[in-house]
Amino acid sequence: MTKYVFVTGGVMSGIGKGVIAASIGKIIQVRGLKVTAVKIDPYLNYDAGTMNPYIHGEVFVTEDGGETDMDVGTYERFLDINVPKNHNITTGQVYFSVIERERKGDFLGKCVQIIPHITDEIKDRLRRIPQDEGADLVLVEIGGTVGDIESLPYLEAARQLRLEEGGENVLNVHVTLVPVLDVVGEQKTKPTQHSVQELRRIGVQPDIIVARSKAPLRQEPRRKIALFCNVEESAVFTSQDMDSIYESPLLLDQQGLGEFIAQRLRLPENPPQWGPWKKTVDDHLHPAKQVNIAICGKYTELADCYVSVNEALKDAGASTGAKVNLEWIETDDFETRPEKVHVLSKFDGVLVPGGFGSRGAEGKILAIEYSRSHDIPFLGICYGFQLAVVEYARHIGISNAASSELNPRSEHSVIDLMPEQNGVLEKGGTMRLGAHEIAIDQGTIAYSLYRNKNVWERHRHRYEVNPKYIQEITSKGLKFSGKSDLNRRMEILEVPSNRFHFATQFHAEFKSRPARPSPPYFGFIQAALGSKGIRVQTGPVIANQTVQVNRSVKR
Ligand code: GLN
Repeated sequence: MTKYVFVTGGVMSGIGKGVIAASIGKIIQVRGLKVTAVKIDPYLNYDAGTMNPYIHGEVFVTEDGGETDMDVGTYERFLDINVPKNHNITTGQVYFSVIERERKGDFLGKCVQIIPHITDEIKDRLRRIPQDEGADLVLVEIGGTVGDIESLPYLEAARQLRLEEGGENVLNVHVTLVPVLDVVGEQKTKPTQHSVQELRRIGVQPDIIVARSKAPLRQEPRRKIALFCNVEESAVFTSQDMDSIYESPLLLDQQGLGEFIAQRLRLPENPPQWGPWKKTVDDHLHPAKQVNIAICGKYTELADCYVSVNEALKDAGASTGAKVNLEWIETDDFETRPEKVHVLSKFDGVLVPGGFGSRGAEGKILAIEYSRSHDIPFLGICYGFQLAVVEYARHIGISNAASSELNPRSEHSVIDLMPEQNGVLEKGGTMRLGAHEIAIDQGTIAYSLYRNKNVWERHRHRYEVNPKYIQEITSKGLKFSGKSDLNRRMEILEVPSNRFHFATQFHAEFKSRPARPSPPYFGFIQAALGSKGIRVQTGPVIANQTVQVNRSVKR
């Protein structure tokens, strides 16, 4: 019998519900069960691909080419699994399917309604996942906050699922915020009480309350939450502020969360195997050295835009014993005042992440030029790769080299729209997405990092290196050391005369895991730490390759 754990949020968003959901998954996983996770986003967009990361956070790309919510990335990192795109359910998808079926005549004669048709579609989607994948437990995080009009059908579906599957198979966890009033230092439970009242009004009684607060909950507020929210005191847990999010499952399990869930869901009584996870957390918490990295881009104010990049850098840091200090540099500033680029001299490494559009791009090119000419370790990701090609092309004398994304009328578009993108007008799900196989040349830095001739990495782009310029660009030292589609597409570049001037068309960060860093990030941090270049053939063996099954981007 499949078990379901629903995680809802109270009081306000942005309190770390995704991390708590993933932590619950981990707590069950270390007890020997096969766990998977689902994120429900009650908005009307079909997927996260068309949303502004500045407002909504990073678009996380799955192995099978889904453009999903950033929480999916959190699940992948905590559970060390690949989450398929159908695990990010949105209202857009649910209504799209129901309306398609209505048009086909599947409901002929009936009035199509939210209950039962929309709620049935939600439950069907949730039940298909363990059927297809054989999971023992599905963790379902319902996005937004209880009280939002949009999330009502999902809460109703959760209520029905518990009725149909039985109380020993479905558990409701409510994550709320317990603020502290500065003046008196009191932990206030009223917002939690209101949020649970609202939840119960719609028919969902939480089994567990996880309170987010600065410090562990004191006895009195715990007692109050239990009484007013109709749960036992032993069902109230705290998620307090911590140094690394990866401590979260350990802190919750220490309070007895795993045992409580195991009892309620009648899970096998397997003792938790925390050994490897504790070691990973330790590596993340106690680095011996420090390394200073500049991330140059736009949107730099919101760390959520690049959460996978941040985590990949931290993973690489943890495995090399280094704390990675990140500083966000807005490249717009370099365009108006180019002398500002000298700020990069104080960093051990410069990273230019993915991005879109022309704003700030010339500034990014200046940052790349500065790192290359001053031999500061550089890692370029996707747009960062494309702009590194533009920068190098200009450096070797292809004047006015550009990407056609920067300047559609450029005389030398060394980066151009991929041919299959010509005439594509629809924006949603139409980029080159998901995992594609990359062939790596032996005797290169790329090979020394991957130690593999064929790897799979995830993509999200419309432009690529223009084949017309490859010969000229590679005539002065730059190498394209990874290629895909029978050498048609350039995937990795490196400049061997530099300590580490390396960039990838793909987003290696999406496959980085806390205990298994992504090879390009590992190489970058190692170089930034001052190792004298990455020696060919002596790099770490980092297995990071899971072949994906279905790359279709169709609905
Ligand atoms: N804007 C570039 C493209 O579409 C790069 C995309 C990215 O960085 N994800 O190809």
